[in-house]
Amino acid sequence: MNEKLIERLEEKYERMVEIRRYLHQNPELSFQETETAAYIARFYEDKSVEVKTGVGGNGIRVTIDSGRPGRTLALRADFDALPIQETTGLPFASKNEGVMHACGHDAHTAYMMLLAETLIELKDEWKGRVVIIHQHAEETPPGGAIQMIEDGVLDGVDNVLGAHVMSNMETGKVLYREEEAQTGRAYFKLRIKGSGGHGSSPHLANDPIVAGAHFVSEVQTIISRRLNPFEAGVVTIGSFDGKGQFNIIKDEVTLEGDVRAMGDDTKQVIEKEIRRISGGLEETFGVVNELEYKDDYPVLYNDPELTAKIAASIREAGMPEIASVERCGPQPPSEDFAYYTKELPSCFIYIGAAPEGEVYPHHHPKFNIDERSMLIAAQAIGSAALSYLME
Ligand SMILES: [Zn+2]
Ligand SMILES: [Zn+2]
Repeated sequence: MNEKLIERLEEKYERMVEIRRYLHQNPELSFQETETAAYIARFYEDKSVEVKTGVGGNGIRVTIDSGRPGRTLALRADFDALPIQETTGLPFASKNEGVMHACGHDAHTAYMMLLAETLIELKDEWKGRVVIIHQHAEETPPGGAIQMIEDGVLDGVDNVLGAHVMSNMETGKVLYREEEAQTGRAYFKLRIKGSGGHGSSPHLANDPIVAGAHFVSEVQTIISRRLNPFEAGVVTIGSFDGKGQFNIIKDEVTLEGDVRAMGDDTKQVIEKEIRRISGGLEETFGVVNELEYKDDYPVLYNDPELTAKIAASIREAGMPEIASVERCGPQPPSEDFAYYTKELPSCFIYIGAAPEGEVYPHHHPKFNIDERSMLIAAQAIGSAALSYLME
């Protein structure tokens, strides 16, 4: 049956490319993907599956039931794009001004649609159920995953499997990592209110820029002085609106920052310290602070047992397109698949997708992938799913 699946997917490869290019030309931002969602839903109209649209927003849940008892495996693919002006010059480049599929979610959706179609065609030959999660809004917090979960997308599901195509990994390679695989994330915004005045008379004012500058330096000591050196975390201040007149003391400044950590405990330590430093600034400088702190995507935790089984089943399937299945290091970006991993033992793997020639990172205006990676993703996830369902 696995050979049949691999063959059928190979036959569908051209359609996979067509779908991906159509989606690539018509990208939509997170939470605004209504046309994309409608396009996906139409694909299932003539198929004997249960389709639920509007799950937690623009999300879609497709249930493929073999009619025989067994486990239920969810397969997740995201479909949102990014606020980036594409400069690839590809013939199928984005038609939507300032919006681009620069993370490969077009490829995820294309491979998943044709993998779903293949699983439907072969459903007399496997047991249990497959739930396809076509997920909106991966790129923007709060993220589509948490919304779909709250709307019951995981009801009756035992485990979740997902994959990401990676332009920085060689095409033909499938990579995996057990346990903590991708960072958790938080966002904060600090408003420091002092009192403005003239540069010649600082004693009559209260300078929030000086307090803000202390904050920037002090938060860096969280990483070097407050974290266990064996735990990884990072704090970045990406915005500090200190711009004004050279001789005027400002009334207030606002700083915005990003927190990443490889453990949910580490995230908590960083949050506690940022709050403490903010409180300390009020004491030291007599300013009034407003701190908005939003904890969003958790750490992506791959269930070790499930991940080992998935990796082994892909390796054993002996697919000609897959050169190797290897363990890789942790990945710095955060990913809202992490929410599924908090709910159920789950696994998220990486599909090498480096194109020929120059390679650009994800979220770059020239980002592109090797389209063969879609076939590899479909075959890898498909054969892992079949061996899971038949176990
Ligand atoms: Zn992305
Ligand atoms: Zn992505």
